Amino acid sequence: MKQSSDHKPLRARTAAIGVDIGGTNIKLGLVAPDGRVLLRGSFQTRADEGRAGVLGRLVENILAVSSAARQKGWGVKGVGIGAPGPVDVRRGWVYFFPNLPGWKNTPLKAILERRLRLPVAVDNDANVMALAEFRFGAGRGADPMVALTLGTGIGGGLVIGGRLFHGPAYSAAELGHISIQEDGPLCGCGSRGCVETYVGNGYFVRELKKRLKAASAAGRGRTRRRFGDGGHGLLEGWVFREKRELTPKLAALAARKGDPVASKLWEETGERLGTMLAGLVNALNPQKIVLGGGVAQSGSLLFGPVVRTIGKKAFPIAARSVRVVPAAFGVDAGVVGAAALLFEGRNKP
Ligand SMILES: [Zn+2]
Repeated sequence: MKQSSDHKPLRARTAAIGVDIGGTNIKLGLVAPDGRVLLRGSFQTRADEGRAGVLGRLVENILAVSSAARQKGWGVKGVGIGAPGPVDVRRGWVYFFPNLPGWKNTPLKAILERRLRLPVAVDNDANVMALAEFRFGAGRGADPMVALTLGTGIGGGLVIGGRLFHGPAYSAAELGHISIQEDGPLCGCGSRGCVETYVGNGYFVRELKKRLKAASAAGRGRTRRRFGDGGHGLLEGWVFREKRELTPKLAALAARKGDPVASKLWEETGERLGTMLAGLVNALNPQKIVLGGGVAQSGSLLFGPVVRTIGKKAFPIAARSVRVVPAAFGVDAGVVGAAALLFEGRNKP
């Protein structure tokens, strides 16, 4: 027990439990009203055990955090869940989880409230990450605020009027599925040319590997070939000769050292993302756009062309008033944002 706060009534210290459900791991934590993570835990999802198995371990782990919280003198206000799929936020109803079988039409809020005897709020994972940035992170106080998480796919969240914006069917902010090319690649959502098909991790790595192979094949015809000469062939050498795993991080390192193939793909990726964001800037006149996730950790390689493209394609007044910033939260975003659902009061659309 902390000595400094012992004089306060215990009831004054109330935190919330945030849960971030992922396909591989479930992370959870006790989060203070100022966004600090007081306790952390994680366990394997083991989706193959089905919904009942996952729910059982979820309840067990939440109860463990709740009991540890009380031992430390914290009251628990409730439990927020960041769910990996579309959710009816009002009812706390999961429509389905694309990467977890067997969760179709699950009344998650009702099930957990009955078993935990605590208030439960449910929202999708991209929305809760946006909420973490808005309440405690890089987007604090910015309104409207747009947040994107650039991972395998692109998760989006919108804060308008100080609240997450859900839309009447709780389907708003699917920003990764804004099409930027009418005849572009087929997307998992059924549409074509979604920005996710160009900017997601999977596309980025596949496309870069393809271009490196082409560059490598073209290089074999040359008489003189020096790896690393002004950055030429640098990434090819790392990937094909040294067998290093091609990741956005490695591509960023190569681009910074002057590798032309990597540099060009970063530029194109930034321009494509910037094209989509220019549309959002015109639609919403946001104060801040927060970019998180692996691809966003490349700094100016991505942010440079994103900002330049917004400058070129959005209305000048709106383009001048928006700031594009990196996310403040990394792995904790889901847990903190899910807990913040409880600090929001009733989670209305
Ligand atoms: Zn799509």
